[in-house]
Amino acid sequence: MDRSIYPFSIFDPWHGRLCTCPKKYSLNPYTGCSFACLYCYSKSYIGKRKSHPKKDFLRLLYRAIPKLDNRLPVNIGTSSDPYPPEEEDYELTREAIKALIKSDFRVLITTKGGKLLERDIEIMLKGRVAVTPTVTTMNASIAKRIEPGAPEPSERITTMKKLSIAGLPVGARVDPIIPGINDDEQELRELVRALAEAGAKMIVTSTYKAKPLDFRDLVNAFPELENRLRRMYFEEGEIVGGYRYLKKEVREALLRPVVSEASKLNLEYATCREGLLSREFFKSRSCDGTHLTFLIDRKQF
Ligand code: SF4
Repeated sequence: MDRSIYPFSIFDPWHGRLCTCPKKYSLNPYTGCSFACLYCYSKSYIGKRKSHPKKDFLRLLYRAIPKLDNRLPVNIGTSSDPYPPEEEDYELTREAIKALIKSDFRVLITTKGGKLLERDIEIMLKGRVAVTPTVTTMNASIAKRIEPGAPEPSERITTMKKLSIAGLPVGARVDPIIPGINDDEQELRELVRALAEAGAKMIVTSTYKAKPLDFRDLVNAFPELENRLRRMYFEEGEIVGGYRYLKKEVREALLRPVVSEASKLNLEYATCREGLLSREFFKSRSCDGTHLTFLIDRKQF
């Protein structure tokens, strides 16, 4: 990583060869993540711990910003959620958004945060900011099991609606879809409809890709699925870039309800790091929602 632009980096999801993201900066005010999602791949790189402010974050951020190219967007929250409960006191994400807007950057925020985001709506409205909240299921008890520290799905969707009503472009992420856990076709379709109703202009979706640490956490929490998941990932699946993928036909079947419902609702939709680029699975101006930041041209600073 270019240390001179730290805490920013050019986004490269651990050299993922299937990544179709446009060139962008990545920024994470925290390391670790208090939301503690079982499937989180970041913990294989960062370790399992609560959200921790990065050392000297704001000082380094202010120092780095003048060295960056503000034609590239900044994606906040690529490996640690930017709105964990700790943000309420530290306000690092809030300050980062302010500083980036001041330097005329486009900002994409990826988060499973809830009500806490509403605190920053007024600030976000001053710049070119888009938000793509993640909701993996509407079922609160499943969400509690797989994302034990994150706000309930209904809270995330309510917040999303408020952001959208306030005038912020929002997309939504339905990822990852995990076989046997959040893959019910009707529930996925209902989820997409709820996200559209809350204002999502696009949907990004993906299947769960296994790394040893997160796979172990998942099967410890769902022991009844262990044999099935082991077979699907380790016997029938394939390895792509150090991750265990399900085989292609299985991934297509899991993603189809999401993309077809999105298509029915005339939303843009994309799949993330799946290598599925046909019209059926990908019809969006960007795979991550960065294009949503182009839909606004606010210059009030
Ligand atoms: S919110 Fe994101 S970074 Fe945090 S634990 Fe969940 S998947 Fe990982």
